[in-house]
Amino acid sequence: MTHGPGTNGLILEEPLLWEKGKPGRVAYSLPHRDVPEETVDQNLLGDGPEFTDLGELDVVRHYTRLSQWNFGIDTGMYPLGSCTMKYNPKINEKMAATAGLASAHPLLEAGLSQGILKLYYELEQFLSAITGMDAVSLQPSAGAQGELTAMLMFAAYFRKKGEQRTKILIPDTAHGTNPASAALCGFTAIPLASGKHGILDPTAVEELMDDETVGIMVTNPNTLGLFEEHIREITDIVHSRGGLVYGDGANMNAIMGVVDIKRCGIDAVHLNLHKTFSTPHGGGGPGSGPVCVTAELAPYLPVPRVARTDEGYVLETQSAESIGRVHGFFGNVSVLIRAYSYILSMGPNNLKKASQLAVLNGAYVKARLLDTFDLAYDRPCMHECVFSDARQLPFKITTLDMAKRLIDHGYHPPTIYFPLVVSGAIMIEPTETECKDDLDSFIEVFQAIAQEAENDGERLRQAPVITKVRRLDETQAARKPCLRG
Ligand SMILES: *Cc1c(COP(=O)(O)O)cnc(C)c1O
Repeated sequence: MTHGPGTNGLILEEPLLWEKGKPGRVAYSLPHRDVPEETVDQNLLGDGPEFTDLGELDVVRHYTRLSQWNFGIDTGMYPLGSCTMKYNPKINEKMAATAGLASAHPLLEAGLSQGILKLYYELEQFLSAITGMDAVSLQPSAGAQGELTAMLMFAAYFRKKGEQRTKILIPDTAHGTNPASAALCGFTAIPLASGKHGILDPTAVEELMDDETVGIMVTNPNTLGLFEEHIREITDIVHSRGGLVYGDGANMNAIMGVVDIKRCGIDAVHLNLHKTFSTPHGGGGPGSGPVCVTAELAPYLPVPRVARTDEGYVLETQSAESIGRVHGFFGNVSVLIRAYSYILSMGPNNLKKASQLAVLNGAYVKARLLDTFDLAYDRPCMHECVFSDARQLPFKITTLDMAKRLIDHGYHPPTIYFPLVVSGAIMIEPTETECKDDLDSFIEVFQAIAQEAENDGERLRQAPVITKVRRLDETQAARKPCLRG
């Protein structure tokens, strides 16, 4: 077996704390009592939960072991396409934990919160500079919420113009959140098929774009990792029919400092700060999905907005056309602090370089696995590439089997079965933070798995075989999780 990094074969056993406890164990030591003993009326205490008795080391070992079962970018490569699981420099964690920021109360008046307001203001300016857009709201707390915010703004824009538009074009490669956000806003999602090269064909947009259509939601680079080369033509068509263009900026990691989003004709775009700008994510943790818009749409942005006045920074809450608040206070502040710290510590040239290296790494993985897996669309890729299991299917081996086998080798599997336009998709996003040696190890492990598909399919169909928990019924596992050790 070709070995990857990580913890091959290390199988930890860990009972529940309840199974571990013994009556009389304690995890604290207090000084001897120097006041008279008093009894407490049990009726006052009530029943309360039955906690088990544990020693301090029992507790420390239990939680430390559990923490070591966690797979994260700090323990190994995590090539989850579309998610940008890159290394997040620890300096940004330290900045987010700075006492003055971490313990600032969100209800402190502006006069006592000048530091954090300045950070919001400057972060908005940075994100404007990075996207080319004119105005930003940091409030939305995820990409999906950024999409919804922008859809509400689009609705408000057409309401103001007295236009009834109810449909919106959504390419078949879009992330599922796009149609969901549009639907939440009362728009009907009209599927737009990608052309035969995996990118949008302007004539298809031309056919569907009418005066009942709000516009289009485009992801660029799209979820096949391909740059929508006709973006300018597409946005021109949408604008010429009075529509608006939404950009899903989740793939910003491929284009920072390279593509000016406003010049592409995008009217509103969200960024996923937790993907591109250094916040550890996965498992649904706090995120941030700022929306960046053109000056024309700026009046509809959520309030409050940070403004700089002669007296300092203030939060403006009044705005006639604003869609209102979309999140309590100012979004997930720790994610904003990390992004601010990341952007400042990188600087414009290094942000651009990060994108260039992300694309180089994506292209390298694509080039080296070309002989191993079927490539859905053979054209230059950006930061991620999408293969399929078409060459392994004749051996009755699927994408799922191969993804599970990667776990035995110490790798987190890539994104699989997405985007939906590729049957059996394997979507690999290495990110810029993996070095060539680590990419080579990953590639070689994946090649060995493909070899195994031809020679030893039975084992592969049972993968993962050296983990504590074997292949699960994933639907059951999600719906009825078994939380025992
Ligand atoms: C991650 C992602 C989203 C949604 O972002 P969340 O922050 O998870 O809500 C939308 N579109 C694409 C392409 C994504 O990769």
